Formats: sequence, C-alpha cells, structure tokens
Amino acid sequence: MSQVFITGANRGIGLALTKLYLKAGWDVVACCRNPAQADDLLYLISDNPGLEVYQLDVTDYDAVRELAQELADRPISLLINNAGYYGPYNIAIGDTDVEEWRQVMEINAIAPMKVVEAFLPHLKLARGTVANISSKMGSMTDNCSGGSYFYRSSKAALNAVTKSLAQDLAVDGIKAVVIHPGWVRTDMGGPHGLIDTETSSTGIKSVLDNLSAEQSGHFYDFKGNLIPW
Ligand code: NDP
Repeated sequence: MSQVFITGANRGIGLALTKLYLKAGWDVVACCRNPAQADDLLYLISDNPGLEVYQLDVTDYDAVRELAQELADRPISLLINNAGYYGPYNIAIGDTDVEEWRQVMEINAIAPMKVVEAFLPHLKLARGTVANISSKMGSMTDNCSGGSYFYRSSKAALNAVTKSLAQDLAVDGIKAVVIHPGWVRTDMGGPHGLIDTETSSTGIKSVLDNLSAEQSGHFYDFKGNLIPW
C-alpha cells in the first residue's frame, strides 16, 4: 500500500490533497499543528482507516525527528511539504521586520528540508518522491510586480533546496519536484483565487502520478506546465 505524508493537512490545499489520496486508496499520514481544532480532518477518520493524524509544527525539529522515529521502517512513497505561511502583507521597503522574515523563511524553506532529512530513511525504503509546494512567486522570471519580499525569497529558497535534493537523491532513486498549486481559494489565496482546492489538488496529484525520473528537479504548475526558475 502506498503511503503519503502531508504537512499542513488541516485546511486548504493540504486538506484537499488528504481527501484525494484517501479516495485513491493511499494510506495518508496527515500532520497539522493543532489536531484538536482540525475538525475537517478528524471528520475523515471514521470513514478512512488508512488515515492517521499527527500533531506537528514543522518548525519544531525535535518533534519532526521524533515523529520520524515513531514511524520508523514505514516506507513513504510521497512526502508533500505543503505547510506554508505568507507572512505580513504589503510590507514597504524600509519596513521589513527581520523576525517576521525569519519566520516565513523558517516555515517555507528551512522546515521542508528538515522534514526531508528526518524522513529520508522512509523515502529510501520506497524510492519515494518529495513534492515541495512552492509558488510561482518564487520564480525570478515570473516576478514582474516586485514586492512580497518575505514570501518570494522563501519560496525561491525552497526551489533551490528542491533542486539540490533532486540532484543528491537521484542515486537513491528518490525524486524531488517543486509544484505551484495555482492561485487557489484558501485562507492564503483569498476569495478571488482562480481555482478551488479540488482542482488544484487533482492537478497536483496528476503531475505526481505521472512524474518520471527525468522530471525530477524541475518546477511545475498544477497542470504540469514547466515554470521557469
Ligand atoms: P492555507 O493558509 O490555507 O494553509 C496553510 C497550512 O499551512 C495550514 O494547514 C497551516 O496550519 C499550515 N502551517 C503553517 N505554518 C505551519 C507550521 N509551522 N507547522 C505546520 N503547519 C503549518 O494555505 P494554502 O492551503 O493556500 O497553501 C498551501 C501551500 O500552497 C503553501 O505552501 C502555500 O505557500 C502554497 N501556495 C498557495 C497558493 C494559493 O493561492 N493558495 C498559491 C501558491 C502557493 P494552521 O492551520 O495550524 O495555521
């Protein structure tokens, strides 16, 4: 049975991915910061024996390591680093708060790497795939409007991390890709997003289902279009 590990699974795109993989018959290890308040996720447990919910703040690296130990010897076919944080909106030049910036970098770029490091043995067992949910806003080429310093730089860093993972882990048969989920109607994407979470997650899953070794180390949107760095 294939097993997928998803962070930030309590709402938004992470919740939609959780539902989709369960529907497809996968076992899902769904992580969220506050399971006690994750009603939409907990609701799925009764009908889905393949769902396990774990408490995990991805920036609590001791907890990440402990969870990896708890799940030792379990092959993970797919690790989706979905948890993300935009940070404060509309920061003007001159107003960048270093602590806020660090927090965005930590959640979006550093934590995904620490999660991969902790779960590397599990990925190796399955010759699995790392899917890092990034954003077109991390693309230099796509940046025609400036601003969003924290978020853009954090996702650009995540992209760089993913590229190196793809190179370094190819020898173990592990793939790593960056996925832009589209502009999605979630708390982060807001009500004017172009697509809903179902459309985004269905597209992401289709890209990952069909991912070849040659596609590892690249940046795709949810439709499978290649995005320039
Ligand atoms: P939401 O704001 O709806 O959800 C964010 C998720 O990340 C929540 O589950 C949140 O948990 C979790 N999270 C944040 N910080 C942490 C942390 N420290 N530890 C664990 N979980 C954490 O966002 P989306 O669903 O829209 O975004 C999902 C991913 O897609 C993100 O990486 C985002 O950057 C990316 N993305 C989204 C786009 C969009 O248009 N929506 C566009 C491009 C990229 P909690 O509920 O506890 O806060």
